[in-house]
Amino acid sequence: MAISVFDLFKIGIGPSSSHTVGPMRAAASFAQALREQGLLTQVQRIEVRLYGSLSATGVGHATDRACLLGLMGQWPDRIDPATIEPRIHQLLQEQCLMLDGSHPLTFQYARDMLLLDESLPYHPNAMTLQAMDGQGSLFQQTYYSIGGGFIVEQGELDAPQAEANAVHLPYEFSSGAELLALCKANQLSVAQLMLANECAWRPETEVREGLLRIWAAMRECVDNGLRNEGILPGGLNVKRRAARLHRSLQEAGQPNVIGSTLSAMEWVNLFALAVNEENAAGGRMVTAPTNGAAGIIPAVLHYYMKFNPSACDDDVVAFLLAAAAVGILCKKNASISGAEVGCQGEVGSACSMAAAGLAEVLGATPPQLENAAEIALEHNLGLTCDPVGGLVQVPCIERNAIAAVKAINAVQMALRGDGEHFISLDRVIRTLRDTGADMHANYKETSRGGLAVAFVEC
Ligand code: SF4
Repeated sequence: MAISVFDLFKIGIGPSSSHTVGPMRAAASFAQALREQGLLTQVQRIEVRLYGSLSATGVGHATDRACLLGLMGQWPDRIDPATIEPRIHQLLQEQCLMLDGSHPLTFQYARDMLLLDESLPYHPNAMTLQAMDGQGSLFQQTYYSIGGGFIVEQGELDAPQAEANAVHLPYEFSSGAELLALCKANQLSVAQLMLANECAWRPETEVREGLLRIWAAMRECVDNGLRNEGILPGGLNVKRRAARLHRSLQEAGQPNVIGSTLSAMEWVNLFALAVNEENAAGGRMVTAPTNGAAGIIPAVLHYYMKFNPSACDDDVVAFLLAAAAVGILCKKNASISGAEVGCQGEVGSACSMAAAGLAEVLGATPPQLENAAEIALEHNLGLTCDPVGGLVQVPCIERNAIAAVKAINAVQMALRGDGEHFISLDRVIRTLRDTGADMHANYKETSRGGLAVAFVEC
């Protein structure tokens, strides 16, 4: 399936692309389908069934709320995050759900929102929505949230010829080796090649404008994260720290390596913390390529833009395009879903993408870029997903800061070489997939292993 840069970078809300953005999109399209089939006014009851990881960490990741908002006709890229709490509060108080924003029906949370201790075979993130009238079932659909806000309907599994497949890309690639060969044969950088591919969907001006809109949303997210203080929601009492760290870095002045070790790195930490705290608080986000790992790419891009006096919009476009090339490889050949392959698929992919983006704007050759992406991903292999309390807070927030710094270091190492290296990016991506397949379900976004249980005091 052809994947666009805009499939990987999507404006949405926190705290999770697979558990919040995806389910909300699924529920909104379910409501839309009811409307389009003329069934809306006949619906008397809606049942939401969450399976697998959506059930195990669904409350902490706000999956239940996302489904309710979607059923109310709300979409993650358009909803005002400030309205979420009041809407949910009112629904639960009055037990009244305004289906598709227009048709009222009774919704009893304990009866109609089912968090099931079972899984469906295709993917751990599964949900079924059923609309009923007085006689029985009117319409039902099962959705799979496969990471990064991507949704697959049950019917599409049997007929996977999605519309995007009809798009003919000038430089189709499915592996890093193919990507490098195309760059070499056509004398293109990775970003130039990606731009040519994107132009198969839309004109170049729209690609540029769209990517700059994504960058503006990333900047806004960082700004909000630097301003907002207090305790993150969910009950763990995790304190936000980006705002305080920002004040302290501003007082410290120009980054240097004397007073505070590697203080430029502290800015990278700051940007990542700001994004992931916003994510944990349910704020406006850009999936990059997921929400849990959404701080890494903006942190590295902010770092480049802040500390490079000649940085410009063209660099932003090139950075995001090159990052997307690696995201496409990870998604096509392994997974970007923590529920499928653990955190190596989320934070690992994002780290690798950020390294590719930075390498591109620092003038790396395609082989050096591939090397940077490979280093960044290799040293995230085996990383498990074990969020404490099912919340995207611990270890997720700090983990983004660590991975952002790791991406920069990977680029430094790759730029010192000529692109030749021992293990290819393709092999590392394959290892990511195989390691994910071997990983116990306790470490795949179920909060049943690792830090999630180590945290529980006896
Ligand atoms: S541990 Fe990693 S994969 Fe799991 S929720 Fe946190 S960021 Fe996402």
